Amino acid sequence: MKPMDPIPYGRQDISDDDIEAVVSTLKADFLTQGPKVQEFERAFAEYVGSKYAVAVSNATAGLHLAVLSMGLKKGDRIITTPITFAASANCARYVGAEVWFADIDPDTYLLSLDKTRKLLESKPKGFFQGIIPVDFAGLPVNLEEFRELADEFGLWIIEDACHAPGGYFIDSSGNEQMCGNSIFSDICVFSFHPVKHIACGEGGMVTTNNEEIYNKLSLLRTHGITKEKMEENHGGWFYEMQELGFNYRLTDIQSALGITQLRKNQVGVHKRNEIAERYKKAFEGKIKYQKVPQNRYNAHHLFVIEVENRKGLYDYLRQYNIFAQIHYIPVHKLPYYDRIGYSDADLSNAEAYYSRCISLPMYPTLNEEEQEFVIEKVLDFL
Ligand SMILES: *Cc1c(COP(=O)(O)O)cnc(C)c1O
Repeated sequence: MKPMDPIPYGRQDISDDDIEAVVSTLKADFLTQGPKVQEFERAFAEYVGSKYAVAVSNATAGLHLAVLSMGLKKGDRIITTPITFAASANCARYVGAEVWFADIDPDTYLLSLDKTRKLLESKPKGFFQGIIPVDFAGLPVNLEEFRELADEFGLWIIEDACHAPGGYFIDSSGNEQMCGNSIFSDICVFSFHPVKHIACGEGGMVTTNNEEIYNKLSLLRTHGITKEKMEENHGGWFYEMQELGFNYRLTDIQSALGITQLRKNQVGVHKRNEIAERYKKAFEGKIKYQKVPQNRYNAHHLFVIEVENRKGLYDYLRQYNIFAQIHYIPVHKLPYYDRIGYSDADLSNAEAYYSRCISLPMYPTLNEEEQEFVIEKVLDFL
């Protein structure tokens, strides 16, 4: 079988209900700052189990607001993983803070708890302010363990859950902890870029359980301007700019799409897991793939395998219109970070991983025929 259509590594799933929701918003009174934004925020908070959710223009903006809300400033330092999209690190640079990398676990590809501890212990207390772990490929970080470590060193945690809406881990008391519920983190950030689970074109969501953080996020999202809690009654037009904020708002058009997209996420994540099971069954004992520790439910933004001749496989698949992708070039290897180079840690797991990793097609509408075709071509190559 040789499908005519290209098979990308990820793809959005837009159906009639999504289109109708957007069209009806276009015909309504508000294109932005209307009722759809709050409706989306409430639905999202309920889905992940957080108290508050703040819709933002994209996850990068969300990460920026998150570090500002934690009070990160020039000269401060954070720790994150080198195997992530650059935005997880860039947010700290926006406020002039240093980005230090700790190595990944070679099997889960997640920020290693041990390596993070080693880095923390190698510096005086107070050297670092926060940790930004990433639920890479959709695999939830065990935030209960990271919380313990963070508390020991007086750090905050911002969970970058851009890959993981719908993922969860089971904590030591046996409770399901949904990515983004902010029980063990201070703030959590999601992306609604079309290649992620929930497609809004552009968009993001920031969740927290802390009212003070929530107020700060809300204020900074809209220029630092508020009409609430005025001392005197100056008149209906009056507002105050209390902080130097931004315009990081999500529109009602995007929120309407987000609401219908969110409703499909549970089924979508289930389908992604079915595809993952099929891949695993085919590759078991032949190819290394991301290890999912017990008691974790992978939301599977990606399905990553490791092969010796990665470039060869990448090129071979392209001949068959299969557009596998590489996630990610280690952030510390990007010229910008290479140049400023704060980290003195050994990042050899991340570098070895990068030389071998390749993400196979993974999205809910990838049909069985296409899955078999991908598997066949991968095995043929090997
Ligand atoms: C996509 C992504 C981001 C940035 O999301 P945008 O909405 O495109 O700004 C941040 N972190 C990770 C891990 C991502 O995958």
